[in-house]
Amino acid sequence: MRIVGRKNFMLSCIFFILVMLVLGKSIKILNINNSINMTAVPIDSTIDKQAASSKYTPLKKYYIVIDPGHGGIDKGTSYGNMYEKDLTLKIARYAAAYLKGKGNVVFLTRNEDKLLGLDEIGDKVNSSYADAFVSIHVNSLNDNNFNGITTLYYDVNGYQKDERIKLARAIESEAVKNDNWANKGIKRQNLAVLRYSKVPGVLVECGFITNAQDRIRLSNENVLKRLGENISNGIIYYLNENYKK
Ligand SMILES: [Zn+2]
Repeated sequence: MRIVGRKNFMLSCIFFILVMLVLGKSIKILNINNSINMTAVPIDSTIDKQAASSKYTPLKKYYIVIDPGHGGIDKGTSYGNMYEKDLTLKIARYAAAYLKGKGNVVFLTRNEDKLLGLDEIGDKVNSSYADAFVSIHVNSLNDNNFNGITTLYYDVNGYQKDERIKLARAIESEAVKNDNWANKGIKRQNLAVLRYSKVPGVLVECGFITNAQDRIRLSNENVLKRLGENISNGIIYYLNENYKK
């Protein structure tokens, strides 16, 4: 009796595993179909695992500040019911989770829907004594042909100029790695949030909400996640290069 009982139990287990495997596969197939239906632009979900395990592994524990642009009554730019303040918070949270997962310490200037003054952001950044600071934004323009990602930096009278340019370059080249984002390069722009920062800092304009193709990308949660992670890889790459010196 005991042997028969055990046999039945084993058979039930095998049956259960088979059912789970079949269900798992069909859920995956459903997910793939959903993402194809949702998006008109090619979305690249390949992950370079080998590169991820070496080049983007922090050489030490870094301290990083991420600033999700806008918040509260300041919605930033918008298109329909799509608000910049929500997109920046999502991208920033994905970046923070990824960076923390790699053993770094991450401060978000806001982790809720509230407005911070520019001086408040500046104080948070400067009192953190972080290794790097990245402000996340989304662009817009009347001409809806404009698309792509731009990384902005600013140096007051050459202060940390080389470092800021290197950080901007590293982030820009990583940010566009997936999902066919257009690389619009880096630009020097006098922005308060960058001017106040004593920490090497940049501002990433994550596509144009006014461009139809960029908007498709920005409405895809997986794209936002990859963007947050790629921006993070740019930060780690820059900090590792700096650390090696
Ligand atoms: Zn903005």
